[in-house]
Amino acid sequence: MDWSQVLASRALRMKASEIRELLKLLDQPDIISFAGGIPDPALFPAQEFSQAMTNALSGEAAKVALQYSVSEGYLPLRSWIRDRMERLGITCTEDNILITSGSQQALDYLGKLLLSPGDTALVSWPTYLGALGAFNAYEPVYDRLSLRGNRTAAQYQEAAAEAGGQVKFAYLSADFANPTGLTLTREERERLIDLSDEMNCAIVEDGAYQQLRYDGEPVPPVLALEIERKGDIEACRTVYSGSFSKTLSPGLRVGWVVAAREVIDRLVLLKQAADLHSATLNQMAVAEVAAKDFDGHVAHLRDVYGRRRDLMLDALAREMPEGVSWTHPEGGMFVWVELPEGIDAADLLATSLKTERVAFVPGRAFYADGTHGNTLRLSFSLHEKEKTDEGIARLGRLVREAMA
Ligand code: PMP
Repeated sequence: MDWSQVLASRALRMKASEIRELLKLLDQPDIISFAGGIPDPALFPAQEFSQAMTNALSGEAAKVALQYSVSEGYLPLRSWIRDRMERLGITCTEDNILITSGSQQALDYLGKLLLSPGDTALVSWPTYLGALGAFNAYEPVYDRLSLRGNRTAAQYQEAAAEAGGQVKFAYLSADFANPTGLTLTREERERLIDLSDEMNCAIVEDGAYQQLRYDGEPVPPVLALEIERKGDIEACRTVYSGSFSKTLSPGLRVGWVVAAREVIDRLVLLKQAADLHSATLNQMAVAEVAAKDFDGHVAHLRDVYGRRRDLMLDALAREMPEGVSWTHPEGGMFVWVELPEGIDAADLLATSLKTERVAFVPGRAFYADGTHGNTLRLSFSLHEKEKTDEGIARLGRLVREAMA
């Protein structure tokens, strides 16, 4: 069978990245890996989930847990999320919330809902690789969203028209972005709303890391600022996606979307068509565990990850030669490193496999235009002092050799 003859055009944009292949090789015990942006499994509330699952499978609860359910999601979980959103300044009702199978599914659905082939998605440069992966299936054109530069709405729109479509949305993580770890200022968030109002496009705000702040002052989500301005979520263009992956468990695949009813109603139709609903048992377990001591649990995560971030920043300051710079994130899981021009981080990773045995993600894949080969992403979520010190010392040697 020659499959290339029967593939849809959208499938041609989906490629396994060469980096992913390389990273598979790096999954060996003597390698110190800063590559995967994953939670530390030692911090999962496994006992609590064990109990919650047992409860959900007992008596009358089991009849709900094991039965088909509504596409919108398990109501007690949506109520819990509604209360949490309220605390962030996102005033809404349960009807403004859809439970998704991870926030990744929300990105896929939003691409499906908003993008026709040739339409423009504005993304930051660099941006979350998984968002590009999700949107690619809908054959968009990407343009660089800049909230500090002075490109006007008209200029974005002109570029989109030239590319054969219109600007449909701007996608971004306002807090502790993957891969840079950076956070938008309030002014930048306001500017985003202004720009999007002018372009009449949606805003897709990815809140995957929002709860993981280690220091600095919290800034309200873009959706909260927009509600403050317009008085009601129903008047807002921002669609917020949240996730339990970084706080409770990524394996259970529970995330959510908050938006105006009109958007949620349409997303519910997409969800019905795609998978009917997310696993009810998982939603029930998450609802029970979250209701118990979510704040206490997250405070513990912040302690641990915040300390690990400090360890990594200290090690970088000690080990990196002049000419290398990196971000100083106030939260999340990532530090973004910029090497001198001309050094290619993918080559560096290939060398690392043979010599220093330290893993990271080369930065090029996070750029919609595949540029900036001299950047790389480090995750600090997994290691304590010994491994971080040793791993960053190895990385320092690698970089020095490449610069020599
Ligand atoms: N958004 C960002 C910025 C992420 O880093 C991730 C996970 N790496 C996701 C969304 C998807 O997470 P999940 O589907 O597990 O909620």
